[in-house]
Amino acid sequence: MVNILKKIEEVESYPVSFSLLSDFGECKQKAQHHIDWKHKGFNYYLSYGSIIGVALEHLFKRGKVKAITPAKVRKAVDIAFEKWFEDDNNDKGADAQQFAEWIAGVAEALLIGYGKHWRRDDTALTCVAMEYPVESTFRVETYLGREVNVPIIGYIDGLFKKKSGAHIMRETKTKGRWSEEELLDQLDFDFQIQMYCYFLFKQYKIKPKTVEYDVIRRPQLRLNISKGETPEELAERVAEDISARPDFYYARYDVPVDRDWLDSFEHDFKQFITDYASWRLGEIATFKNRMRCFGRYGPCDFIPICARGDTLKFRKRNKKERQKVLDGRRKDNTNNA
Ligand code: SF4
Repeated sequence: MVNILKKIEEVESYPVSFSLLSDFGECKQKAQHHIDWKHKGFNYYLSYGSIIGVALEHLFKRGKVKAITPAKVRKAVDIAFEKWFEDDNNDKGADAQQFAEWIAGVAEALLIGYGKHWRRDDTALTCVAMEYPVESTFRVETYLGREVNVPIIGYIDGLFKKKSGAHIMRETKTKGRWSEEELLDQLDFDFQIQMYCYFLFKQYKIKPKTVEYDVIRRPQLRLNISKGETPEELAERVAEDISARPDFYYARYDVPVDRDWLDSFEHDFKQFITDYASWRLGEIATFKNRMRCFGRYGPCDFIPICARGDTLKFRKRNKKERQKVLDGRRKDNTNNA
């Protein structure tokens, strides 16, 4: 009895993040691994995305959007790297250090190009907020009839306003490759976007007219070590490639938001949260969903553990780190997946 009360208290006290919910939706074992294990190495794609995300957060200030200059980009990238190291990446050794050295110039080139490419569009907007927290609590009845309040939190990358007063919710993604057709299909039915729109409406009564999906391509150019290329030379090469074909690096897609879509989302989401709460209370078993081990973004990070019980590349999270994963307000940028 004490145990179940403690579990209910844990679920009700800390808002769950989109990241943990998303793992749960894919595979319950993945969500459990996410809570229990921390990858010893650093994740290249995640690190790259988080550096660009934090830099953008510093490039757009609340109020009328100003032009993004190279000097502002340099400062924002410096801040993003400081934060990235603070986020527990400073214990990752030589790999992370090397990554930091060669990616800094590339991130700068990419964001200078971004500012130039979208200057006219963005300076016509007002920035309402960056990394805007949206929260909502769902009261659900678990499979064994327990009433539980489940708080959920998400962070909108950017919320902007047009001169007409219409809101634009912006989600930025750094991708290596994408197909426009596939992306548009996915966006029409994107769980994260729908959840954030729904929360925005429920909490602030703001209904964005459109969701703008802002894609920044992750350069595929790599340091040519055999030719003795330096990180600065690589950054120059990336900058040249961006100037030659900016449309290859930057794209934006608008998804209209309509009321029907929000209503049907509410119903489905409540069912999903009922599943989640029942799982957290131990009413649903944790099992391996083998159909999700090799997804569209590559293999799941936890394959060594699931397949062979091999935890060599991982370490058990301590109590504080576990708490950080369960408390979505403390944005954990060092997740494995
Ligand atoms: S490897 Fe497969 S079964 Fe294991 S956590 Fe990942 S998706 Fe789930």
